[in-house]
Amino acid sequence: MKRRQFIQSALAAIPAAAIPASAWSCTKIFASAAAVSAELPDIEALTSCNKEFYLRGADVKAFAGRLRGELLMRDSAGYDAARRVWNGAFDRHPALIARCSGAADVMEAVKFAAERELLVSVRGGGHSLSGQSVCEKGLMIDLAEMNSSRVDPARRIATIEGGALLGALDREALTHRLATTAGTVSHTGVGGLTLGGGFGRLGRRFGLACDNVRSIDVVTANGQLVTASKEQNKDLFWGLRGGGGNFGIATSFEFQLHPVDPIMLGGELVYSFEDAPKVLEFYFGYAAQAPDELNLDVAVVRLPNDQRFMSIDVCYSGPTVEGEKLLAPLRQIRKPVSDTVAPTPYVVLQASGDEKNAHGHKFYLKAGFVQKTTPALIDDIISTIADASLPVPQAVVLPQGGGAYARVKTGATAFAQRAAPHNMFVFSRWDDASQSEAVGNWSRTAWKKLELHTHGFYVNEFNDDSARMRDTYGPNYDRMVALKTKYDANNLFRMNANIAPIGA
Ligand SMILES: Cc1cc2nc3c(=O)[nH]c(=O)nc-3n(C[C@H](O)[C@H](O)[C@H](O)COP(=O)(O)OP(=O)(O)OC[C@H]3O[C@@H](n4cnc5c(N)ncnc54)[C@H](O)[C@@H]3O)c2cc1C
Repeated sequence: MKRRQFIQSALAAIPAAAIPASAWSCTKIFASAAAVSAELPDIEALTSCNKEFYLRGADVKAFAGRLRGELLMRDSAGYDAARRVWNGAFDRHPALIARCSGAADVMEAVKFAAERELLVSVRGGGHSLSGQSVCEKGLMIDLAEMNSSRVDPARRIATIEGGALLGALDREALTHRLATTAGTVSHTGVGGLTLGGGFGRLGRRFGLACDNVRSIDVVTANGQLVTASKEQNKDLFWGLRGGGGNFGIATSFEFQLHPVDPIMLGGELVYSFEDAPKVLEFYFGYAAQAPDELNLDVAVVRLPNDQRFMSIDVCYSGPTVEGEKLLAPLRQIRKPVSDTVAPTPYVVLQASGDEKNAHGHKFYLKAGFVQKTTPALIDDIISTIADASLPVPQAVVLPQGGGAYARVKTGATAFAQRAAPHNMFVFSRWDDASQSEAVGNWSRTAWKKLELHTHGFYVNEFNDDSARMRDTYGPNYDRMVALKTKYDANNLFRMNANIAPIGA
């Protein structure tokens, strides 16, 4: 008998009175029924140190029975959808996917993995550019169902679950004319973005997303749920703000919100590629003087049809009249070939990149923080795109730093790259697997040149260069290592921009 049929007959045998009415419509009952009734074969798995072993079917069954959410295996309905992450370049098959329904499930999942040294990945919104939220033959702890978002307008506080997406945070807060910094694509996860830092259209005004966190509920590597805040577990609170997923699984965040006008001056200025060097030269000086309310993210792009251009994503959160005056020099330095900047609802701006950044395409990205804008940097950005020739989109992107990001002291949170005027990344997007090698080669060559203008990297964009981790965390690095050793001595949470604990 097939497992699903077996479960259904097992269910039929349970008296109706034994199951609460609400559970009849709930697919989770299948997982629980499976746990008590069906035999499971042992499952091939990997330890966090990459050693093969088998998870005992009986243990897996018992684990499924302890969860309120579903436990998915290779043959479960929904397994393929759940293992898929935003970056289509990663096609991994976890041994198990725990679709957690709350902190209690996360605690169970962490304990199950820790007892077996099972490889763990944590999925919040699934946007990891480096695919770290899905593992091969390990346990994927999936928070997608933990996506509630609640705002207390009187206290100006948002309480957001660990698997919620940015769109939920923006939408709930903006309804009350409130907001906090969130990234620029609304289907990005609050969890990953906030723990790694969190740049966004309001960031120069309010700071990183993590600067606006008041407290975090987190399940640490020993399976305990603790609250980290300025009052409780202060050291953990420090590390969680910029340390990525190194210290535990955030089940809930409390954010400080700020009053805003929900209509902001935003859109895109697009310039011809011929004008790009002059505009970039002007832009770097202009951006350095810009008020906190203005956020400008630059992209220099080549499309597969060989069209090249430069764009500036604009968001001004102050009064529109002042914004128009402020933007005049950007419109005068060279005439934009397209100008969509106009008063626009902030939630519309926040979703304006959603389609361009749809799930499932393959992405390759390399990134670093620009410490100084120089003529050589401009030359290298322009030549990178002038020389690009692949049949895929290729771009150099420079999100703006400064403002409130830079006013927080380097040692105040784990996030150390406060002074960088810009973040920079080179990326390409493609679908055809036969292009993967060419894309990788181009990106690595392009980055060799651009990297010379950077120091450290943004862990949310790039995280597979352990040699640059010390640069990334700078004076905070040693404190991070001590904290990792205290909270995760066995490096259970290693699929991230990993801080290796002492002795592991
Ligand atoms: C299209 C796109 C746009 C982006 N725009 C921005 C932007 O504007 N600003 C910006 O700062 N960044 C941006 N990023 C980068 C983004 O911050 C990271 O990709 C981030 O990791 C996404 O979080 P997630 O929860 O969706 O990712 P996931 O893939 O779910 O998780 C990534 C990693 O974060 C950790 N993690 C996630 N959730 C939790 C949790 N609840 N508890 C513990 N660890 C967790 C895990 O280590 C996991 O491996 C963007 C990324 C993409 C793909």
